[in-house]
Amino acid sequence: MDSEVIVIGAGPIGIEVAAGLKRAGVDYLHIEAGQLADTITKWPRNARFFSSPERCAIAGVPVQTFDQEQLVGEVYLAYLRNVVEIYDLRIRYYERATSLCRTREGFTVESVSRTGRKRYTARSVVLATGDMNAPNRLGIPGEDLPHVTHRFDEPHRYFRQKLLVVGGRNSALEAALRCFRAGAEVSLSYRRAALDRERTNSRLHLELSILTGKEYIRFYPSTVPAEIRDSSVVLKSTADEERSTEIDADFVLLLTGFRGDISLLREAGAEFDGTVPKIDMNTMQTSVRGLYVAGTAISGDQNAYKVFVATAHDHAPKIVKSLTGRDDAPHGTIGSRRYPFSIDDIKPKDS
Ligand SMILES: Cc1cc2nc3c(=O)[nH]c(=O)nc-3n(C[C@H](O)[C@H](O)[C@H](O)COP(=O)(O)OP(=O)(O)OC[C@H]3O[C@@H](n4cnc5c(N)ncnc54)[C@H](O)[C@@H]3O)c2cc1C
Repeated sequence: MDSEVIVIGAGPIGIEVAAGLKRAGVDYLHIEAGQLADTITKWPRNARFFSSPERCAIAGVPVQTFDQEQLVGEVYLAYLRNVVEIYDLRIRYYERATSLCRTREGFTVESVSRTGRKRYTARSVVLATGDMNAPNRLGIPGEDLPHVTHRFDEPHRYFRQKLLVVGGRNSALEAALRCFRAGAEVSLSYRRAALDRERTNSRLHLELSILTGKEYIRFYPSTVPAEIRDSSVVLKSTADEERSTEIDADFVLLLTGFRGDISLLREAGAEFDGTVPKIDMNTMQTSVRGLYVAGTAISGDQNAYKVFVATAHDHAPKIVKSLTGRDDAPHGTIGSRRYPFSIDDIKPKDS
């Protein structure tokens, strides 16, 4: 065996698993398809977490912000680099796992990097590959035109441009708001009849409700894009198939969410409920003995908006316990970082 455990993915939760394994003295190998926390490197510039800073802290390393406000992505990346250096975690960056097979003794993992293909063996594997591997494509004409993108990068490029944002979740509302403030002429198309208070951050929901109500941002509820053209978009009504409208757009941001990649789990023979892997939540083990899932990857190929860094801190200690039989140190050393926390804590209470 090349190692006891192979960890695949070095986002916050993959790092938290690696730190737990290192603390427990487990021999492990860690591979990451891109740079450290690659998902977060692709966030829009200067985007903030919605979660509170103490809930984003990992592996017992406190995080401080200069203004006690939510963390900006770039600051969190600096913090994660710090965690990796404090623990001296060894990660094979820019190496993507391409195959995962069950063997009699454990698993083989195949990977590809700039320098070629590799093959490793281990008794157990932890998949911490996230749930944002690829955008949800709409499959409409014009989706691949150069002025159309599935990732919001930064608002400046849309200054004094007609921008259509498609979507109704946090990422779409945030992009619409930031681009509006940066001087873009913003329209928002959403397939539902109204912005959804249950599924969005309350501040964003309030600000967007005001701006769309006053028509500073033009809102097209119950619509989906049917075709993107060079300087316009045809929006089809979701309420009435026959109805459509064509609006001007210099740029189009399709912020309709992302999907996780479940191909490795499938290849290893894990069982699913639909496309969500069956997981024993006491150990984070799949139906395949020795195959664990941690972090947002537990949502399978969905971007379920139910698992966050904040709600996944129990994954690493459960995996370490299952592998070693020993309790790992609790997440953080400060009471305020250890309070029990679940998705129910962030649901609006008065609806
Ligand atoms: C603007 C924005 C704001 C957000 N705000 C919040 C928030 O407030 N709170 C919150 O908790 N979350 C937030 N998120 C989501 C956040 O990005 C995820 O919750 C977090 O990154 C999940 O951590 P993870 O370690 O489970 O997975 P990820 O961070 O997605 O890490 C997975 C890693 O696995 C790697 N990987 C994938 N496939 C392979 C492979 N085959 N081989 C090797 N490596 C692989 C990826 O490159 C990646 O580095 C936000 C997202 C965005 C875009």
